[in-house]
Amino acid sequence: MTLSIPIKNCIGCESNLISEVGTLGYLPNCNFFPKTKDEAINLQRYNLNVVVCNNCKLAQVGTHLPVESIFNNDYPYFSSASSSWLSHSKDLANYLSKKLSIEKNDLVVELGSNDGYFLKNFSKQIKTLGIEPSKAPAKKASEIGIETINDFFSENLATQILSSHGKAKIIASMNMLAHSPDLRGILNGVKTLLKSDGVFISEIQYSIEMFKSGKFDTIYHEHFSYFSLTSILNIFETVGLNIFDVEFVDTHGGSMRIFASPNNSKNKISENISRTLNYEKKIGVNNLDFYSNIFSKANTIKENFKSLIDKHKYIIGYGAPTKGSVFCNFCELSPSDILHTTDVSELKQGNFMPGTGIPILPPTANAYMDSDAVVVFPWNISEEIKKIFSKWFPNKKNFLYVAVPELKKIL
Ligand SMILES: [Zn+2]
Repeated sequence: MTLSIPIKNCIGCESNLISEVGTLGYLPNCNFFPKTKDEAINLQRYNLNVVVCNNCKLAQVGTHLPVESIFNNDYPYFSSASSSWLSHSKDLANYLSKKLSIEKNDLVVELGSNDGYFLKNFSKQIKTLGIEPSKAPAKKASEIGIETINDFFSENLATQILSSHGKAKIIASMNMLAHSPDLRGILNGVKTLLKSDGVFISEIQYSIEMFKSGKFDTIYHEHFSYFSLTSILNIFETVGLNIFDVEFVDTHGGSMRIFASPNNSKNKISENISRTLNYEKKIGVNNLDFYSNIFSKANTIKENFKSLIDKHKYIIGYGAPTKGSVFCNFCELSPSDILHTTDVSELKQGNFMPGTGIPILPPTANAYMDSDAVVVFPWNISEEIKKIFSKWFPNKKNFLYVAVPELKKIL
């Protein structure tokens, strides 16, 4: 049995002034889908609590899983599998090439470069380097000619890259900062590797939107930090990085794209910064109540979902994303509540949802033939899924639901 570790210090600023704002209960690692129902039900469970740092205001999970139980999973994720993400990345590469005037022989580094989906968009005259800890995607990137280091980015690795490749004009990270317990190590590494006129671009989920709307199922152990601009600005300051602009993008249910540079650079501070900070202050980023509200909203969703179950005989799920596992565990569901779910990933098909033992089948119309209600777990792509069901069942109405951020009929 491996033990979880309740954190004592903020992973952003190292302060010990942290306060718990709520918990979703004891949940297993929600991104692990066992091959047997028994194993799924008997997985080790850990407190899924959220704490907020009173110093830098970073919201973060209060209990860290042993790192080996998180990163050693069997489900390599390939960014290139999602066509909307591919086109987002291509647009971003073009936009950055223009906005930041990247020149011949400049070095562009991506942290968490996956299969090279982003770096492959840059012109061949620009040097690119990917850093990717997962073996399979790193190998794939190397195969298409993107130089990739198969390792976790850290201050140490940054020093090694500095001597082999020199300083970087651009360092990018897409949805990666929140997934590491070593936030300070990464940021110190960025500071080490970045040219004095270089820029660090990071896309991160905007947690203000998550806390405000009650999307509690995006809280899970693998997701260590929940950033606001307020908190990330405070943390960057402690490592000598200065955020000079922020943009908001619609990926991953609402993200912010921040632009930072070493604190002695001359970049003009955009008005977007003060506007966003004022908004966050007004909405309550400094008050613990703002963060604890998501837990009462979660309880309301749980009650409403239980009454949906009481009204239907035969509920089936669509999708088996991590957020679906969080939802099913928090609502204490079992295969008698949700008969089965489905998922497009062949690696999950035939396996079981962690903690609840709900079976995962391939997504076919047949799997939904007898259901009188379907709940879509990946609510962020519900429009896409609505189209699939309209095609499968053109005459069926009043059966398709999303449960988060509120229980709602969508078809
Ligand atoms: Zn802090």
